[in-house]
Amino acid sequence: MNALAATNRNFKLAARLLGLDSKLEKRFNMTMLEGPMKGGIRYHPEVEPDEVNALAQLMTWKTAVANIPYGGAKGGIGCDPGELSVSELERLTRVFTQKIHDLIGIHTDVPAPDMGTGPQTMAWILDEYSKFHGYSPAVVTGKPTDLGGSLGRDAATGRGVLFATEALLNEYGKTISGQRFVIQGFGNVGSWAAQLIHEKGGKIVAVSDISGAIKNSKGLDIPSLLKHVKEQRGVKGFHGGESIQDSNSILTEDCDILIPAALGGVINRENANDIKAKFIIEAANHPTDPEADEILSKKGVVILPDIYANSGGVTVSYFEWVQNIQGFLWNEEKVNNELRTYMTNGFKDVKEMCKTHNCDLRMGAFTLGVNRVARATVLRGWEA
Ligand code: GLU
Repeated sequence: MNALAATNRNFKLAARLLGLDSKLEKRFNMTMLEGPMKGGIRYHPEVEPDEVNALAQLMTWKTAVANIPYGGAKGGIGCDPGELSVSELERLTRVFTQKIHDLIGIHTDVPAPDMGTGPQTMAWILDEYSKFHGYSPAVVTGKPTDLGGSLGRDAATGRGVLFATEALLNEYGKTISGQRFVIQGFGNVGSWAAQLIHEKGGKIVAVSDISGAIKNSKGLDIPSLLKHVKEQRGVKGFHGGESIQDSNSILTEDCDILIPAALGGVINRENANDIKAKFIIEAANHPTDPEADEILSKKGVVILPDIYANSGGVTVSYFEWVQNIQGFLWNEEKVNNELRTYMTNGFKDVKEMCKTHNCDLRMGAFTLGVNRVARATVLRGWEA
């Protein structure tokens, strides 16, 4: 099932659990276009309109789950940023911004980094946008800190994944320490998650990225791996572990907790039966196909869904936007403490919905997000 069909299906299931009126669903589509909308800009060869649409919808429910005042958005360019020089990337980003500068804005649509983009991309967008509308740093988040980016934004998605995992494990009387993790994806999200989990005593037994996959049942030395990745631009060739021939098989490696932190749809009916993890923390967007959801649920695997688990990034983007509008910079401790509060509250709210609707965590998160948007829509009233 493609990403858009899967997202629509989850929305419909949530709407049914909530008993929503179908007229209300239609009204969502109108109010959602008012903004401020929020989401990342993705540069990746697989970017295509349906996928971007699905990712934007996920942002709507994600920001509602996080309880931050945004609708969802997403953008992307189908390209391979690894093949482009810095100056090509800059030109591509500037031309893209020339096309979208009238669509984005502090109170309409606020882009941020996603796969294949980062603080430098945001700096170029901000600069190009400023040529048309004047300098206004709040038009993008995830900027370099020298241009008004928030402290802690770079690590935020990974840190949010840590807080989310801690909240889930706490339910089972467990902590990070001693758990064995497999992380698929070692970009911004995966590498920060690995670092923070390692610091908390978690054992990371396998990681992969586009260069390859490595494992070490005693636990990988994450600080050395980070150094290796910086120098070699990938995990491949790291001496502190043995290489796994087929990178995709990393998902079925033996572990307690699996963290997909790369592309969507990677956990599907082909591999779901072979997954050994007891918990899956969705650091990526829609990594689990609905068919795999069903298989895994029968196996008793607990999945912490993307729209909650990876909401740390957009939450700190919100803090950045607030700081820019206020013209006041928070220190990193405040950012991280606020993030912890949002993630902990989010988990409690999701669990509450699971109890009310007798559903799993994915439906708990979807009903939470959809219900918040529905309540706001109803409060605005219906046309007479
Ligand atoms: N791209 C990230 C996401 O998928 C962050 C979006 C943002 O910060 O606006 O959640």
